[in-house]
Amino acid sequence: TNYVFVTGGVLSSLGKGIVTASTALLFKSMGYSVTAIKIDPYVNVDASTMNPFAHGEVFVTEDGGETDLDLGHYERFLNQNLSKNNNVTTGKIYLSVIEKERRGEYLGQTVQIIPHVTNEIKNRIREVSRDYDIAVIEIGGTVGDIESLPFLEAAREMWIENYGKVAFVHVALVPVLKTTGEQKTKPLQHSVQELRRIGIQPHVIIARSEKPLEPEAANKIALYSNVPREAVFSDHDVGLIYEVPLILKEQGYDKYLTKILELPYKNPDLSKW
Ligand code: ADP
Repeated sequence: TNYVFVTGGVLSSLGKGIVTASTALLFKSMGYSVTAIKIDPYVNVDASTMNPFAHGEVFVTEDGGETDLDLGHYERFLNQNLSKNNNVTTGKIYLSVIEKERRGEYLGQTVQIIPHVTNEIKNRIREVSRDYDIAVIEIGGTVGDIESLPFLEAAREMWIENYGKVAFVHVALVPVLKTTGEQKTKPLQHSVQELRRIGIQPHVIIARSEKPLEPEAANKIALYSNVPREAVFSDHDVGLIYEVPLILKEQGYDKYLTKILELPYKNPDLSKW
């Protein structure tokens, strides 16, 4: 299995879910078998106990899982049912680690975030991804949050353990100041620095902005994020979110990702999309 991790920078509700769903769709349209996983760093076990006004609608999977609404995006983009295990939360991870500890399964060890919690995270991701060519995994929240650290650490370890088969895609906001009308890349630069600080060098940067990314902004992002210019993509506002896979494909995002994962590239068939 190949793993594509999607992280987010600067702020939440940025469009990571749509980027994750689009990435999964592009691979599926190349003929690969694909699944998508949402990681929610909150301590709730699932979305059923959360206020829908604050968190959005609960998405119920075929097997009765009450999950984050991003799972709905994944299912609609992929045209494929997912299971409750495609939504991993801090609550689920800790519940299972603590239950194992109570059963004595750790055989006297001190149970720690690294390696016991991170191993639990990695096992769950592997389990759900086992039968697929590619798993696209969205790490909820924003890089720099305390809550998402164990998940980022698990992702970093999976990158080392599956070298060449893991790609990191970082989505971050590029705001425009009204007074100058200029796209500002500094917040994005800082979020990439935050990722690098914990040992993750993203392979791909997706700039989320109102208007298409300006060439000067893209050059700056490449330079400061330590990626080639061809690894920087624009995810600007579109009228319909179903256009996002199309604008990413237009820029060669799908081809670039296959290059990173050393997978054969087939032009995605989006004729039915
Ligand atoms: P996140 O997963 O980062 O919290 P989502 O993917 O759920 O964010 O997106 C947040 C909101 O922004 C959703 O309502 C989504 O439809 C919208 N959105 C995402 N990408 C775009 C885009 N390129 N253009 C317009 N709206 C978008």
